[in-house]
Amino acid sequence: MDHSRVSLASRLPHVEGFRCVVCGAEYSLDQVTYVCPACGPVGVLDVVYAYDRIPAARPNGGARSMWYRQLAPLSAEARLPALNIGGTPLYDAPRVAETLGLARVWVKDDGRNPTASFKDRASAMVVAHALEMGISTVATASTGNAAAALAGVCAATPGINATIFVPASAPEAKIAQLLVYGARVLLVEGTYDDAFDLCWDVCEEFGWYNRSTGINPFTTEGKKTVSFELAEQLGWQTPDVVVVSVGDGSIIGGVHKGFVDMLAMGWIERVPRLIGVQAEGSSPLVEAWQHNLTAQEMKPVDAHTIADSISSGLPRDRAKALRAVRETGGAFVRVSDDQIIQAIPELAQATGVFAEPAGAAAYAGLKQAVAEGRVRSSESVAVLVTGSGLKDIRSAMKSVGSAVRVTPSLEAVRAVVNG
Ligand SMILES: [Zn+2]
Repeated sequence: MDHSRVSLASRLPHVEGFRCVVCGAEYSLDQVTYVCPACGPVGVLDVVYAYDRIPAARPNGGARSMWYRQLAPLSAEARLPALNIGGTPLYDAPRVAETLGLARVWVKDDGRNPTASFKDRASAMVVAHALEMGISTVATASTGNAAAALAGVCAATPGINATIFVPASAPEAKIAQLLVYGARVLLVEGTYDDAFDLCWDVCEEFGWYNRSTGINPFTTEGKKTVSFELAEQLGWQTPDVVVVSVGDGSIIGGVHKGFVDMLAMGWIERVPRLIGVQAEGSSPLVEAWQHNLTAQEMKPVDAHTIADSISSGLPRDRAKALRAVRETGGAFVRVSDDQIIQAIPELAQATGVFAEPAGAAAYAGLKQAVAEGRVRSSESVAVLVTGSGLKDIRSAMKSVGSAVRVTPSLEAVRAVVNG
């Protein structure tokens, strides 16, 4: 890729550069594009800010969008995608708190983003960055949501095209979104991991910019904005615990980065404990956390879960995910597909938030964490719902019985109402 036209380092004086999460090596923004050259793919990079060059005042924008420009890796002149991303609602969930015996529970509904998932945050940041660099084609591998997000953001952004690699088994609604947004879609006859490797090779071959999760450091910078909003919505207080479902580990890594940035800026006083939730059939991070493995020591597993968005055999952002949980004194918990399915209507009926399986997994994980004694009754918890239930109707239908059929007559309804 020809990055020589634009020097990022000179355009972004508030950014120091990159730091490898695994070996700690530092690089300038112009030196590397994706991962640490010394560590390879496991060596994902942090974007490091010069906090002392950023105005210290807390933002005061009412958490209406994801653009907290002082802590974004963008220049003052950067063009932003035109969609309204972030600014998602944070709901108080007293019935959930009561059921689980907790002091307070909030639900952050990121299914309310333009393409109905949290991934809009990452795609918007990457596309803004691509515009800054004068890049015209962005590609990604995805289990579905990141792809839909990239396709949607690119559709709203003249001059940028999306090419998408998704496993052919992705839910129909997600594939429909890609096609409707006009992205070039390649259904890969293989797993997500196969799609990921293929996207990498293709980007190398054609010089495209790779947005894939876990290698593009700017995705984390988009994802972290959910923590900024959460803190601002709570008047710059932080909950005791934040619960996040985990596949590749990049959302929990982003959530963590957001809190770390805010702590360094003095916007908040403490970082919440982060609890990562994995599906039983795709839980290598639970395994690694329990056995005290490093990211480099982790081995791929054969992943399968109904929660397609968090299905990952070797989480790409495992270094950031392990760090997020270890540094905050949090935990990883494991939930079965049955627990996830059951959580969809439970969460919806207690809060009005209809989550896709991966989103409901966070709620199932909170229940599991409470059962395991990892959250105390005096504590407050925020649950991050990462995608809308409309993304995967087939799974949702498994969680509920069938509706009652009636003939169009008052009599028939009377019979139903009177039992
Ligand atoms: Zn490294």
